[in-house]
Order: sequence, then C-alpha cells, then structure tokens
Amino acid sequence: MKNNSLKGLETIDIEGFREDLINWFSEEKRDLPWRKDRDPYKIWVSEIMLQQTRVDTVIPYFNRFIEQFPSVEALSTADEERILKAWEGLGYYSRARNLHSAVKEVHEKYGGKVPDEPKEISALKGVGPYTAGAILSIAYGKPEPAVDGNVMRVLSRILSIWDDIAKPSSRKIFEEAVRVLISHDNPSYFNQALMELGAIVCTPTSPSCLLCPVREHCSAFHEGVQNELPVKTKNKKQRPISLAAAVLVDETGRTLIHKRSENGLLANLWEFPNIEIHLPYRTEGEQLTDFLQQEYGAAIELGDMAGTIEHVFSHLIWNIHVYKGKVVSIKEEREGLKMVSSEEIEAYPFPVSHQKMIKQFYKK
Ligand code: SF4
Repeated sequence: MKNNSLKGLETIDIEGFREDLINWFSEEKRDLPWRKDRDPYKIWVSEIMLQQTRVDTVIPYFNRFIEQFPSVEALSTADEERILKAWEGLGYYSRARNLHSAVKEVHEKYGGKVPDEPKEISALKGVGPYTAGAILSIAYGKPEPAVDGNVMRVLSRILSIWDDIAKPSSRKIFEEAVRVLISHDNPSYFNQALMELGAIVCTPTSPSCLLCPVREHCSAFHEGVQNELPVKTKNKKQRPISLAAAVLVDETGRTLIHKRSENGLLANLWEFPNIEIHLPYRTEGEQLTDFLQQEYGAAIELGDMAGTIEHVFSHLIWNIHVYKGKVVSIKEEREGLKMVSSEEIEAYPFPVSHQKMIKQFYKK
C-alpha cells in the first residue's frame, strides 16, 4: 500500500520539468480558436464549454458563440433563449445560464472587465477553482493552479500520488503540488501544457510514455505503474427512468411544445410533452392522454408507439417511448406552452433527446 503524500516533490528536478514541459508545449500546442489571443472573456467561455466536453465538439460551438456574443457586453445584454439556442446540444445547460448571470455581474459590477483577482473571480456564478485558475493564469499570467481531472491524472503519475482523485478533498493536494511546480515566468504556458499533456499524451487508458516530453521526470514511468494511476473510484451507476413523450400535431401542422421549469435538469429548455411512467396498471397512452388533458387542457388522439430514444446523463438514463398523435383541441396557449410550425420550432432550444425526436418523429 502506497501512502498518500507529495513526496515526489522532494525528488523532482523542478526547473528541468518546467523547461521540458513548456518547450514541448511551445512547439507542439494545438491550434485552437481560444488560443488566438488572451482575451479573458473568450478564455472563460472556452473553459466553461470544455467542462465535461471534448475539444473537437467544442470548437464549432465556441466559434459560433463568439460570433454571436463577441464580448462581455454582447452576452450580458442577450436574451437567455438565444444563449440556450447557441448552447443547444452541448449539454449541461446550467453552464450557459450561470455564464450568462456571471457575465451580467461582470458587466454591471466591474464595467465589463473580467476580474483578475482570485477572490473576485471565484465569487462569480459557475466559476469554480479550476476555471478561476485557468482564466487567471492564461489571460492574466498569474501563477494560480488550474486543476481538473486531466491535470490530476498527469500529476498523480508524475509525482506518484495515490490519493483517490474522485474525492473532492484530493484537489487540494494537487493544487498544492502545482503551486510548487508552476513557472512564475510563464504560468499560462505551464498550466496549458499540463492540460495539453493530459489531452494528447498522458491519456487515461494508454499513456504514450515513449513520446512523452517529461518522461525523464515521471515517477510512475520509472516505477512502471503508469497504468495503475490515477486512483479513481467509480461513479455510482446511472439510475434508469422510463418516460413517455408525445409528438402532437394539429390540423394545420403545428406541434405542441412545452418549456421546462426554471430549476433543475435542463431548466428552461423546450420539449415535447412527456411524463415519467410509474403506474404499471394503466397503459402509457392512457397516462399521457390524461396528463395532457389535466396539465394543458388538450384533447388528443394518440397513435401507437413510434419508437424509442435513449439519453444518458452522468447520473440518469432516460428511456423515452415516443408516441405520435393529433391535437384535437387545446385551451389558450399560455406561458411555457406553444403550438409552433415546423419553421418556428427552429428558434427554440431543445435538449439533445428532444432534438432527436424532432428529426425522427416530427420532420419525417
Ligand atoms: Fe504520463 Fe507516461 Fe508521460 Fe508519465 S511518462 S507523464 S505516465 S505519458
């Protein structure tokens, strides 16, 4: 059993490590759109988008987002629905809502300048220690740690740290390590280089040690334990949820959509009416029909099940049975409930599962 400590810091050649890491990054760094300048707003947007999301996925979203909302001012005055639309498909939509409120705060309280002090920047909504460190080091050149899962993986190998990186308390250990290791001449490149190394060389399952620029400094490589690190306990399994949803069209071709509540999962996005199924003694069709009558005052005619959609979240799996049908009559439209044409529907932000429904069951 290894003990948990930062003993690796006592033996590593810190100067040599910094130099090898930064030189490699200067030569090999990927050409990414948020690396074109050091605008803290753009770095902020990119870091929020990159949370839980792959670089290749983020690039087109980032470019479109910056085109639509090129500055703190542009984003702070934008309508939330437009922002969610620009985020549509990226997932974890609370990121977009938090970014919007934080940017408004920057606009109002700091005259549009993203704060460059740890205390102020960390107080902004959705800006955790990693994002704060990334903005402070990359945009402002401050020697602050930016520790995410990638950086913990890389450092656990380089310094042979055996703490469980799934535990929130472990982050502090890695931040302490970065505070010792970070280059004060170029904190921006140092942090970015660690992230880049984690993304393209020191990858989770098969680190490319033979191509690694800091192999000479890596304890795990010398001990032959790079595949045992990091220690990371598995997430709990995702909970399955059965849903029934209805794609309902009226005689003029308009379809019924509904806005989710302003709190909770996928808040404020639009969707087709749906319910969680938990009454085994009644058919899904009966439950959906009653729900639509009670909730929306809608009389409907439902057809057979048209197909299924599965969507996996980090903690849930939605199994959605999709029904097609007709709206026979509906009470007045109200806030959060609309009948929209196939052109109008384009303007509304939907979660990925319901975008799939649009493609597969509505626009056929
Ligand atoms: Fe990662 Fe291997 Fe490089 Fe060590 S030598 S940092 S384990 S890629």
